[in-house]
Amino acid sequence: MNPAPAAAGGLRRHADVNLAIGVFSALLIGGLWLYTVNKHEGEYRETVEAAFRQSSNLAVAYEEHIVRTLKGLDSALLFVRHEYRRIGRTLDIARYIGDGVVDGQLFSILSVVDEHGNIVSSSRHFEPTNYADREFFRVHQRGGGDVLYINRPVLGRVSGTWQVPMSRRISKADGSFGGVVVLSVDPGYFARFYQKADIGTRGLVTLVGLDGIARVRRVGSELSFDIDMSNSSLLRERAQLEYGQFRSLGGFDDIQRFIGYRTLREYPLIVAVGAAEPEVLHDFMRNRRRDFGMAALISLVIAGFAVLLMVTLRRQKRASEALANSEARFRGAFEQAAIGMAHTSMDRRFLQVNQRFCDMLGYDRGELMGKAATDFTHPEDRGSATRDRQRLLAGEADSLSAEKRYVRKDGSLLWVNRTVSLVRDADGQPLYFLRIVEDITERKRLENELRELAATDMLTGLPNRRAFITWLEEEHARIRRFPEQQAAVLMLDVDDFKRVNDTHGHPVGDVVLRHVAELIRGGIREVDACGRLGGEEFAVLLTGATPAAAAEFAERLRRGIAAAPASHGGLDIGVTVSIGVSALAKDDDGADAALLRADRALYRAKESGRNRVETDAGGVAA
Ligand code: GH3
Ligand code: MG
Ligand code: MG
Repeated sequence: MNPAPAAAGGLRRHADVNLAIGVFSALLIGGLWLYTVNKHEGEYRETVEAAFRQSSNLAVAYEEHIVRTLKGLDSALLFVRHEYRRIGRTLDIARYIGDGVVDGQLFSILSVVDEHGNIVSSSRHFEPTNYADREFFRVHQRGGGDVLYINRPVLGRVSGTWQVPMSRRISKADGSFGGVVVLSVDPGYFARFYQKADIGTRGLVTLVGLDGIARVRRVGSELSFDIDMSNSSLLRERAQLEYGQFRSLGGFDDIQRFIGYRTLREYPLIVAVGAAEPEVLHDFMRNRRRDFGMAALISLVIAGFAVLLMVTLRRQKRASEALANSEARFRGAFEQAAIGMAHTSMDRRFLQVNQRFCDMLGYDRGELMGKAATDFTHPEDRGSATRDRQRLLAGEADSLSAEKRYVRKDGSLLWVNRTVSLVRDADGQPLYFLRIVEDITERKRLENELRELAATDMLTGLPNRRAFITWLEEEHARIRRFPEQQAAVLMLDVDDFKRVNDTHGHPVGDVVLRHVAELIRGGIREVDACGRLGGEEFAVLLTGATPAAAAEFAERLRRGIAAAPASHGGLDIGVTVSIGVSALAKDDDGADAALLRADRALYRAKESGRNRVETDAGGVAA
């Protein structure tokens, strides 16, 4: 596996996922805002349409009220004019009001004025007053049809209150000007038709003449009179259409209004009702703030969630990359290691083995995988391997090293230094055993060679003194453990060997020594042991031999040697040996004691003339 393309692929995949998360959350947020904005546009349109409808409906009702009121007032004027024409100046208007013939509640004063402008009759007591300079008087004096004239509001000179004079012309029989009937109305009456609840605290109700002068204007509960509105948007709109609706620009108080207006059919007047935008949109704006706030919050949550997701994915990706890298590193190290490595399961089966391990054992990977490791371990080492595993499982050690043997495919022995450790998961549960195996076969071979060299006499190839003493001690220990068993030791010394050296030379002496050694080696059994103790001295250990049997064997050996001269350079060189025999006793402190007794017996043999056997049983029964 090449890690570089895999990492690039991982990066690309990660970028794709990030892009998808980004796009998805952006779409989600976009959709949310599209929905919110659309919803509010719709709500706004509906709210404005409803406000216009309301204003137009109110304007219709308002128009009816005004027409009814004006008709009532006009009929009072027409009645009084009629009576004036019939009975002249004796007319008593107050009496009509008192009798209920004329409704006096609608106006504050009703008067008859003659063609000179002088009041001739009035609903109230009056001082002689001339109205010839008044607008309504002059309008009728100038002529025109018989129509109700609605004057602009005037501020009463005495009363200090606003009044709207309304008048009709009195024509004489010949059609000439005969004065006017006039009444004064509180203009506020025209505007008080609606309750505050109908129009709101900033709502507008106004009655405007086609002359551009507002008779009354009410905003909330505030009244104002005689306002020049000839430049207002209302008059401009009205110039286009007799009735309709429009959004006023808030010319006088900077408040926009949704206005419905109508032009009266029978009177030169316009009624208009307007709902103030802040009031109309109050609930809408509150809802919009709430909804937009909510949308912003949800957007933040979505964005936050997306960022969180990206960060989490990024972390996860880094972690998995690090894991992949370390796994790749481990795999590389595992595969390319110069030492053998293997994972084994809890039931000792090979889970993974590296090439070096395979090479060491001489098996293919396929031949090892799944097999029990025990099958490849030397039978003598299986017990210690099991003990090591149990100690690791018990947590007594982290890792254990030991020298042990495997058996190769070709049957040969593989000596290894094996370190085994238990790999656990994060919870401490055992996963597998990791064994690291180093081939020490060659070292073992050298060690054995050295050990053998150290135990061998170089001249004869027999075990040397130290090796022989070791055997002797082992045998003595055995005798002590099993006192019913027996063993004997022989000490041999070549007779007059100095003479051989002196006669034939030292090298020939060596040949004779090797010859004697061969005879000794050939004379003993497999279970016996022999050695060269030094110089021309040899020793033999006879396992299971009584002193008598040992003496017998010694005698046979002595004769054999005496009968078999060494031959060298066409020369036969005969030698004899003297032999001291002793038995290994269980009461001896060490093996030396028996050797010392044998030496004493040997001395006796020498003293007694050589080429003979002497025994010193040391108290051991023959
Ligand atoms: P005896 O034992 O019968 O009393 O007489 P002997 O001549 O054998 O006496 P001794 O034990 O004193 O002499 C031993 C001789 O063996 C002395 C020495 O020169 C010789 N010798 C010892 N080691 C070697 C050896 O490795 N090679 C040869 N060629 N001679 C050795
Ligand atoms: Mg000697
Ligand atoms: Mg000797």
